[in-house]
Amino acid sequence: MGMEPEVLERAASSKQRAASEVEVLSNYIGGEWIESSAIDLLDDINPANGELLARVPLSTASDVDAAARAARAAQPGWAAVPVAKRARAVFALREALWAHREELARLVTEDMGKALDDARGEVGRGIESTEVACGIPTLLKGENLEGVAAGMDVEMWRQPVGVVAAITPFNFPAMIPLWFLPFAIACGNAFLLKPSERDPRTSQRIVELIDEIDEIPAGVVNLVHGGREAVNALLDHPEIDAISFVGQASTALHVMERGTRSGKRVQALGGAKNSMVVMDDADLDQAVPAMMASAFGNAGQRCLAGSVAVIVGDASRRERVRSALAEAARILPTGAGTDEDVVCPPMVGADARDRVAEAVDRAVKEGAEMVVDGRDRTNEAGALMGPTILAASERESELLREELFGPVLALVEVDDLGEALEFVNGSRYGNASAIFTTSGAAVRRYRAEAEAGMIGVNVGVPAPVAWFPFAGWKDSMVGDLHANGTDAVEFYTRKKVLTTRW
Ligand code: NAD
Repeated sequence: MGMEPEVLERAASSKQRAASEVEVLSNYIGGEWIESSAIDLLDDINPANGELLARVPLSTASDVDAAARAARAAQPGWAAVPVAKRARAVFALREALWAHREELARLVTEDMGKALDDARGEVGRGIESTEVACGIPTLLKGENLEGVAAGMDVEMWRQPVGVVAAITPFNFPAMIPLWFLPFAIACGNAFLLKPSERDPRTSQRIVELIDEIDEIPAGVVNLVHGGREAVNALLDHPEIDAISFVGQASTALHVMERGTRSGKRVQALGGAKNSMVVMDDADLDQAVPAMMASAFGNAGQRCLAGSVAVIVGDASRRERVRSALAEAARILPTGAGTDEDVVCPPMVGADARDRVAEAVDRAVKEGAEMVVDGRDRTNEAGALMGPTILAASERESELLREELFGPVLALVEVDDLGEALEFVNGSRYGNASAIFTTSGAAVRRYRAEAEAGMIGVNVGVPAPVAWFPFAGWKDSMVGDLHANGTDAVEFYTRKKVLTTRW
């Protein structure tokens, strides 16, 4: 039944009014909040209830140019600040993040749906990266060798790369910008962040906090909102020296190709399809909850989400594992991220939910067996999908080999560890992989032979702490240096070797 025209008109104008009252985000360039020159604005919607939170400008090449120039102007002065003072500036950032950690976590949940406890964990991980970067005087120290020839000594220094930019995805809007920002500025670089256009309010808030930190001068940190046009402008800009990227594998490849074409240093972390191997001696009371959290936490929208369960064992063991997973998925707390016990929250938006539901439809058409169907569950924003489990029939299918990035777990059955490894290593991705077992011998073989950058042993989401490098192998990463830890310091510095004769 259609609505009367005047009712429709009123509905439209009240929606427009609502949109006009909502904040349009500004860029932060050279220490000032500046209106973007964008004509197009994107709505940032709360996927738990459909509320319009902010309007995001799709900034243009001229906005990027202004930010890149501001960063270039600020960088030499910042690099000249003694390293201990830069460490203190990063420590001031750590203190500000810590003081606002609950506010930041709530922004993450509002903007992209993540369960609040998960959002708190994400903010905690971002703070951890910041804490690691506080050790920059130790991390930056070079090497030296006395007496390489008569009267000759050699030493190696690390100096900043210059102006660096980070382009980040929607699924960790607090943590991923903080994988890069603290290390980049600690090393003496100026920094430009282009956050995801889907949920940029957490980045906006982090930069507002930076604005209040006197120890970080204007122009050292800049923020430009936007999508493809802004990204491509960054990739082409002559004043940008290095790019850190995280997002889909196809975007990672584009960023690597276009960024290196103009001579930039690029690290680009891409998508994933992670397997969790359940050996026939695994303790299911421990493994099943860990697998639920891995497959369905953040609605499967994690680069470390275990989206394939590889079940090892005879027919009765396979049946036991399958029923235990199905039973747990059916009762898994699902709903708004603000409900404290929720494990499976809404996805980032209705479009993402529809895309994943369509992939499930295709998998069923291609012969996969539905074990738990979450497609009939949603919320008022149309963004929620319930935990879904499918038993795969075809090893080289989209269901088993492509990243769906939603609350979908596929099951594969194999006879032994060798067959499990063959399946796992048949993936074009190599981000993470987990094994659940009580056998030391199985662990030893798995960790040696699995082709992935991050391995979990009885851990479903093997996210390395920030003192270690974070990234995958194969199509999950283009470039060589990973995020965090000493890799971050290597990426954000250039080495200079001095040979001296006296
Ligand atoms: P995405 O690739 O769509 O977007 C990432 C960034 O690239 C955004 O800032 C976006 O504006 C920009 N972008 C998107 N398409 C572009 C294009 N064609 N040209 C130029 N710029 C473009 O990724 P997403 O959907 O925001 O994030 C989810 C993806 O990120 C998943 O594939 C996930 O596995 C991956 N991810 C990987 C890691 C990791 O550590 N490997 C961590 C988190 C997320």
